[in-house]
Amino acid sequence: MDPFDLAVIGGGAAGFMTAITAAENGVKRIIILEGSSKIMEKVRISGGGRCNVTNATWIPNELAENYPRGGIRLLESFNRFAAGDVFDWFEKRGLKLKIEDDLRVFPVSNSSSDVINCLTKAAIKRNVEISTRFFAKEILITGDNLFNILSRQKEKIIARNIMLSTGGNPSGYKLAENLGHSIVKPVPSLFTFSTKEPKLNECSGVSIQNIDIAIKLNNKTFQNRGDLLITHWGFSGPAVLKLSSIAARELFEQKYKFDLIIKWSNLEYKELKEKMNYIKVNKGKLNLINIRPLPFLTKRLWIFLLNKLDINQNRKWSDLLADERERIIDCLLKDKYVISGKGPFGEEFVTSGGVKINEVNFKTMESLICPGLFFSGEVLDVDGITGGFNFQHCWTSGWLAGKAIAKLKE
Ligand SMILES: Cc1cc2nc3c(=O)[nH]c(=O)nc-3n(C[C@H](O)[C@H](O)[C@H](O)COP(=O)(O)OP(=O)(O)OC[C@H]3O[C@@H](n4cnc5c(N)ncnc54)[C@H](O)[C@@H]3O)c2cc1C
Repeated sequence: MDPFDLAVIGGGAAGFMTAITAAENGVKRIIILEGSSKIMEKVRISGGGRCNVTNATWIPNELAENYPRGGIRLLESFNRFAAGDVFDWFEKRGLKLKIEDDLRVFPVSNSSSDVINCLTKAAIKRNVEISTRFFAKEILITGDNLFNILSRQKEKIIARNIMLSTGGNPSGYKLAENLGHSIVKPVPSLFTFSTKEPKLNECSGVSIQNIDIAIKLNNKTFQNRGDLLITHWGFSGPAVLKLSSIAARELFEQKYKFDLIIKWSNLEYKELKEKMNYIKVNKGKLNLINIRPLPFLTKRLWIFLLNKLDINQNRKWSDLLADERERIIDCLLKDKYVISGKGPFGEEFVTSGGVKINEVNFKTMESLICPGLFFSGEVLDVDGITGGFNFQHCWTSGWLAGKAIAKLKE
């Protein structure tokens, strides 16, 4: 049997984009080898079943800023195929997309199945073969520079070029290592925070916009501003997910035990003190529970904070002592929570770590160590924050690789 021109190992977003781009640019014999029984399973579950395809951040260097790891190298890639190109790519292949207020891009139908159908149709149209339940276990290079890919069941596929797009699956790292690559230790990114803080769960569902949160670890401060959600196990929301991504490696080292500092107040010390003094003088007859120094703090959260400070919510504002006022201000400016671990479910879990990016040519996505071996997607040591950036990286790296493989044939 003639060798395939390209064997794509891993039938996820990155693998499909590689195969389709190569096929549309003239590569003839392509096969996608998917280890499980279903292709693009992560696309299906992504974005709560809606698939956040990309983010409408059109300018390449702004787009690259959303990747705590890999961003600098991605700038080069995004200059060739960025979010606007992805938008056009899907629309040209019949998938209508929409941009939401926060710039996330979804299918108009709000259904991830439509993304899967679009990619599957594009692959089939160009005669890309798709083989499921082919779990690549070993890759051998023959004397004539062909790759022999052996499955767990000892099936064999021979190819001139291979794409490793196995996502965060450990088998992919092993295959890459066996072909000479180094792996940056994979650790989770994009997770929520658990705390055993008593009674915080009474605020479950409370969401506050534009909050500053920070983590201090070994003289290093990680901080972020965004929307915070209190859950029944701790903290979630975009601010937390982004902070987990920024500090992913360090939090792993700490075994996810650290202090989270929350600045509930949008005012600084002086303004906050003036505001509280104003309430004390002008609305002193009201109970603490009935008037909040920051109106956007919900009543439930305000009561929780007063309880945490051990200040009776039924006291009158006029009775508030200077020392109590200072404690409230301190809490509103730097409230501390002991985080005991990651949350029970990842809202948008990705792996930080993977194939070392300085061993890959980012113009072509080809290995600098093993010619004919290409990488795309999460298998690389690149990861983004939430908002469609992780798929964007899959589309970009897959497209670049597909183009480069097609060029080899010219
Ligand atoms: C719940 C959830 C929601 C998410 N939502 C979003 C979102 O809305 N937007 C966004 O940008 N990102 C989202 N992400 C992240 C995004 O899903 C990933 O970044 C993306 O799927 C990575 O694509 P990939 O093709 O590199 O890897 P994967 O999607 O993981 O695909 C790899 C494929 O390779 C197969 N495979 C692995 N090893 C082998 C082997 N040895 N042989 C053969 N096949 C193998 C796997 O079965 C898999 O099908 C979400 C992640 C999760 C978990």
